[in-house]
Amino acid sequence: MNFLLRNATLIDLGAPADVTADLAVRDGLLLPASELGSEEFQELEGCVVTHGFMDMHVHLRDPGQTYKEDMESAARAAHRGGFSDVLAMPNTVPPIDTPSRYLELMERAASIRQVRIHQSAAMTEGRQGRRMTDMEALAAVGVLAFSDDGSTPQDRHLMRDIMQAAAELQRPIIDHCENLSLSKPGVMHEGAVSRELNLPGQPRLAEESIAARDIELAQDTGCRIHLQHISSAGTVKLLREAKRHGLSVSAEVCPHHLFMTDEWCKTHGTNAKMAPPLREESDRQALLEALCEGTVEVIATDHAPHAAAEKARGWMEAPFGIVGLEAAVPLCLDGLVNSGRMSLRQLIDRFAAGPRRLLNLPLEPVATGSPINRLTLLLPEAPHVIRVANFASKGRNCPYDGWKCLGHPFFIESTENPE
Ligand SMILES: [Zn+2]
Repeated sequence: MNFLLRNATLIDLGAPADVTADLAVRDGLLLPASELGSEEFQELEGCVVTHGFMDMHVHLRDPGQTYKEDMESAARAAHRGGFSDVLAMPNTVPPIDTPSRYLELMERAASIRQVRIHQSAAMTEGRQGRRMTDMEALAAVGVLAFSDDGSTPQDRHLMRDIMQAAAELQRPIIDHCENLSLSKPGVMHEGAVSRELNLPGQPRLAEESIAARDIELAQDTGCRIHLQHISSAGTVKLLREAKRHGLSVSAEVCPHHLFMTDEWCKTHGTNAKMAPPLREESDRQALLEALCEGTVEVIATDHAPHAAAEKARGWMEAPFGIVGLEAAVPLCLDGLVNSGRMSLRQLIDRFAAGPRRLLNLPLEPVATGSPINRLTLLLPEAPHVIRVANFASKGRNCPYDGWKCLGHPFFIESTENPE
């Protein structure tokens, strides 16, 4: 399908000003409107064309749990959600912890055209938190970053060895901060709501104590660390402090921690169960502030598909996590930009530039001649309703069904990248 993008706004973060122009999409390429000839096309008014968004925290469930999601369904979900790139976490079955597993996955990923799939590798064998993986060999075959996401080594000595290796290899550690001796057996945030629901809670300290430990180790080793899905005001404080001391520490926040609190656990059942848990309004406000001022540099979804039967097991048994790829951009356009909290340029920075800065990937210019799948198109003020039943993801575990948003990504169905 070809398109005429009338009065489109090109936003390139490397250019001093936005450009308004008539553009075309033909055969999967962004072109000047003058290139459209006699072929059939659809018209689209007032579209924003910008750098491809990257979600640096996605669970493909592939290999091993493809009843939850697979590479193809996740790629379709990412494409529809406005993303050109995803970084997959290595907690698959088996985990991505050897060069051969990494290369096998990347070979399959190379046949996916709609989005570019990047894969992180585990930092401990089997993600068991006991023995380091061969990080040098993994880096040599192209691994960009290391993570045991889902958990983190509890042993401080081992974590120091890992960070020393990562520093030498110049790769970041992507850190799921959770002190298991404090978080278990909690299934939600520890506070008034967990007491009301009579459910075991996870204190903020479960996250903050590991964030503090790893910031200390990053200072000691010179390792670059990225704190995943931060949820508490205390972690924001630690992050701010670390940055003030000039340490290479960054962080991401997930839309669910920006737009929901533990109150949602009363009404949304296990679709409000995630790790780290939804916390309190004061935490939410601290995260919003940190994201807007740039202390938190990345928005990531922690897209975590699960089967409906698994999420139906009740609060104590259901797995943690929700899907995010097809909801994140509408939620953020509505709740961050159209609400007046941040500019569209700032949002583009958090979705497109932040992850690439951390992963040492180039931010490609927004220019005619680019494959449309490498860019993100937005209709920043168009009304949109999040409909879980329409998701391309196999996961239906999402608390936002029926949410009305102003603004959504625009995707061009079944576009293949021209070779
Ligand atoms: Zn995690």
